[in-house]
Amino acid sequence: MSQIEKLLAVYKIERQLRGLQSRLRTAERFLQEQERQLTGLGSQRESLESQLRQLEASAREREGEMALLDERIEKLRQQMNTASTNKEYQALLVEVNGQKVERGRVEEDALELLEKVEQVKAELDSAHQQHTEREKIRDVAETDRAQRRDEIKDRVTELEAERARVAAEVDAKTLATLEKLLEERDEDAMASIEVLDKRRHEISCTGCMMTLPVELLNSLLSGVLTNCSNCGCFLYLDEEATARLGAGSKR
Ligand SMILES: [Zn+2]
Repeated sequence: MSQIEKLLAVYKIERQLRGLQSRLRTAERFLQEQERQLTGLGSQRESLESQLRQLEASAREREGEMALLDERIEKLRQQMNTASTNKEYQALLVEVNGQKVERGRVEEDALELLEKVEQVKAELDSAHQQHTEREKIRDVAETDRAQRRDEIKDRVTELEAERARVAAEVDAKTLATLEKLLEERDEDAMASIEVLDKRRHEISCTGCMMTLPVELLNSLLSGVLTNCSNCGCFLYLDEEATARLGAGSKR
């Protein structure tokens, strides 16, 4: 096996591994998204709970104020009953009316607060419901993730052992380059060439579709590890390219 063939073997196993793991990664991303939404819903719920506590406290305060005003008005009325002069009576009447206006204002305020309390309670109910529903989705996502992991576990172990065996035949620096290319370009980490014109030795990279200089073909044919001069991927000759180049090659 040439270096290119060995590297191609690693690449093919890597592709299989990545293919298997991509469904698991999708499941993991979905699960993470559910966790993120649950955190958001949780803090929304907390903020509504704190709003509700404040509104209820304010409403209670207004009710206390109203009770004090009622007491004050009642006291003024009693004073009116025992007023000795008309002037005194009129002055008390003015004060009673003033207190009544104030009581009306506080009552309006209290009613508005109670309305808001009901509103926030409804929002809180809906937030609770959303949280419960999201928890269910999260639980399903968790089961799904575990299931996918179990499904591929054995095959992944098998492929990883195979990759380790094949990779041992390739030098570390080349392997590192392949890993990097796989991270950046996935399936385009390695590409075959397309023979555009056999006689004129015109070839292109099937990864980036660019025409390549003839030296690269010579280097490939002599079994040297060759990278595309445009996209940087490792080049190899697939069956089709080998067949098109025919028996005349030095390979
Ligand atoms: Zn290329």
